[in-house]
Amino acid sequence: MGNQADFQSKLPAGGTNIFTIMSKLATEHKAINLGQGFPDFECDEKLKELVAKYVTEGKNQYCPLAGLPQLNQTLSAKMERLYGMPIDPSSQICVTAGATQALYTAIMAFVNPGDEVIIFEPAYDCYTPQIQLSGGIVKPYQMTYPDYSIDWDKVKGMVNDKTRMIVINTPHNPSGTVLSKEDMQALEDIVSDTKIIVLSDEVYEHLIYDGEQHQSVMRFPRLFEQSIATFSFGKTLHATGWKMGYVVGPEYLVSEFKTVHQWNVFCTNSFVQFAIADYLGDPKNYEYLPSFFEKKRDTMNELLADTPLIPKIAKGTYFQAYSYESISDMPDREFAKYLTTEIGVAAIPMSPFYTEDPGDKVIRLCFAKQESTIEAAAERLMKLKG
Ligand code: PMP
Ligand code: GLN
Repeated sequence: MGNQADFQSKLPAGGTNIFTIMSKLATEHKAINLGQGFPDFECDEKLKELVAKYVTEGKNQYCPLAGLPQLNQTLSAKMERLYGMPIDPSSQICVTAGATQALYTAIMAFVNPGDEVIIFEPAYDCYTPQIQLSGGIVKPYQMTYPDYSIDWDKVKGMVNDKTRMIVINTPHNPSGTVLSKEDMQALEDIVSDTKIIVLSDEVYEHLIYDGEQHQSVMRFPRLFEQSIATFSFGKTLHATGWKMGYVVGPEYLVSEFKTVHQWNVFCTNSFVQFAIADYLGDPKNYEYLPSFFEKKRDTMNELLADTPLIPKIAKGTYFQAYSYESISDMPDREFAKYLTTEIGVAAIPMSPFYTEDPGDKVIRLCFAKQESTIEAAAERLMKLKG
């Protein structure tokens, strides 16, 4: 054995994320995987044909750092149509390798060592390590089952001179809740006249139900001036493995974002950008999404109505939170493991999304699945009735 280099981990907590853990367990136990969030159905054939076409046509070299001009043009038109905000395609958008990289680059660009970043827990799992890598200090606001609501006066009380960023996520993974217009206005009031940047994770913008409207930061001009919003084509196109996304914001923030993006990615793959530029040019290719997923949510809830799992009806995302309080007092990691290994359905526990586990007896199931998958899972979950 040779000498080993000595280094100090920047993420000493290390660990494997809960999605990987539960997917591995699901495979080992041949469980139906309602854990990790990905569709078990194909993306549109038209989209696949476009991707194939552009590879064959030779769109295989670097494209501009901020994204292919026609893709940024398509996105700008789409955002103005949906949120009423004119977005300059060349200076206010940057295409990224998925939302994870978008979040990472935004945090690296704006958070300096010692800066405080407020996040709302349960929080999507990459926020905390990314903030730690930047040297920032995570300030968690705890939301709990069943409301997962935010008291903005309390948030205001958490803000001080060191607060650099507030990370929001609507529709919210893992709770399935959404922020209202009033929530966004309260946030706008808190950050106005401060140096705070809002990082708004809106990857589930199209997965919103019961006639609710997605409250993008783009609907609030004053808030938008201090915001970077992140999006993922993985969710919108049923293609999580492509790892493509983008950010939008005012020019002064996107310009700084691009400076950092330049040195860690430069540009993302070109042929997929050509394909998406064509595909999303037709609003029909995203307008169907709320009703498409709402039907899946309702199917899952109807089929599980006879089990002891109590849903907190998801208003957005493709995740549904369920309380198992009435049948078990196991901690949620243990219960999710039991469901996977004994019942044959993989789930995600809520506690990994918290700094401090509130002890809620809640798991998350993903309904981005074919009806036959949801039916098969429901049949297995009937065993919980005892
Ligand atoms: N934010 C949230 C809330 C997510 O659920 C996910 C992943 N599903 C991401 C960001 C990361 O998106 P991507 O796969 O495009 O990196
Ligand atoms: N976003 C997906 C989820 O919430 C998982 C992504 C991942 O595995 N990193 O389930």
